[in-house]
Amino acid sequence: MKTIAILGSTGSIGTQTLDVVRANGDIQVCAVSAGSNIRMLESQIREFHPKLAAVWEESYARELKDRVADTPTKIVWGMDGLLELAAMPESEILVTAIVGMIGIQPTIAAIKAGKDIALANKETLVTAGHLIMPLAEKYKVRILPVDSEHSAIFQCLHGEESKTIEKLLITASGGPFRGRTREELKSVTVEDALKHPNWSMGSKITIDSATMVNKGLEVMEARWLFGVDLDQIQVVVQPKSIIHSMVEFQDGAVMAQLGTPDMKLPIQYALYYPQRRFLAGDRLDFSALTQIEFANPDQETFRGLPMAIEAAKAGGSMPTVFNAANERAVALFLARKIHFLDIYDIIAGAMEQHKVVQAPDLAKILEVEAGTYEWIESRWHF
Ligand code: NDP
Repeated sequence: MKTIAILGSTGSIGTQTLDVVRANGDIQVCAVSAGSNIRMLESQIREFHPKLAAVWEESYARELKDRVADTPTKIVWGMDGLLELAAMPESEILVTAIVGMIGIQPTIAAIKAGKDIALANKETLVTAGHLIMPLAEKYKVRILPVDSEHSAIFQCLHGEESKTIEKLLITASGGPFRGRTREELKSVTVEDALKHPNWSMGSKITIDSATMVNKGLEVMEARWLFGVDLDQIQVVVQPKSIIHSMVEFQDGAVMAQLGTPDMKLPIQYALYYPQRRFLAGDRLDFSALTQIEFANPDQETFRGLPMAIEAAKAGGSMPTVFNAANERAVALFLARKIHFLDIYDIIAGAMEQHKVVQAPDLAKILEVEAGTYEWIESRWHF
């Protein structure tokens, strides 16, 4: 029986991971965790009987403890709790379905404890890829991508040598505002931005899709995961999300992974890799599919992608600034304190004032993250 621990089990990826567990029946969930959703965590504890459950704040931990006092599940909290979950001896795989840079430290702890990582949390590789990838190699653990684009590339590369990669072609739906002008984006609302055309996801990543920051984060992540140069990665808009991504090889062959948009496929592929399992759900109907459209991304309107590439090219601590500024800007947009286009201005401003530190260690990354938040709070008055 496979054993897993889940960071962020109450979120979009977390709950779909539990759907995969339920459908297969041969995975033991050793630990679950949430920020504050203790009601859902309680029902997960009652259904999956994990050994451990972690929440962020101590007050939630106390409440959860009372609620599940009749179960043997141990309740922990804070970063210490997440680190205990990540390194627990019972689990083989850590699913990082938590949102934000908070995922870095538990991922490092899990790698050092010899766990394979089913990686959904993109912030980890974006900001600390230069630390995580060598560490995974040192401890001989696998980083198994859960993000659909990276999983698609991972599937295309199965049985191939990575040195034969010419180019990675990451597909993008273009988000809910594809085709709109900058002028039209001035007045879009949180509700408009949360309507993703193809995927149902957590609110932060849905806003990131609308700004195309998400695609930028994916480019940065792909570079570390597959060991390619930035100029070997091309973003291709494919509005219906039928092709999840592609790889062009040195002989000119292009391999693509296609399917209906369902995150359970990449989650299941990561959990059982290299085995492929049955997965219930809709299939692509090629008799009804008359065409697949492609376009180049509009990088003038949706500045998230070129700004991410600029941050990746600057390297060192700049991707952390890009990511932290975006995290804060998205939170402010979701709280209706700024307009949609302000997200770009906040990121650009934070990057402009930052002096790059090359090869930052974890302490430096966290310091740069905190410094970026402080800078935004002092510069932008809400
Ligand atoms: P959600 O917002 O839906 O879920 C986030 C999870 O993290 C929740 O369980 C949340 O708990 C938990 N969490 C948040 N803060 C803390 C904290 N301080 N301590 C402990 N747990 C915390 O996010 P998604 O599932 O959409 O995304 C998760 C990650 O996966 C992101 O990095 C995203 O970019 C990436 N990803 C997501 C995809 C998707 O389809 N959703 C696709 C590809 C990648 P609570 O419920 O209590 O808030």
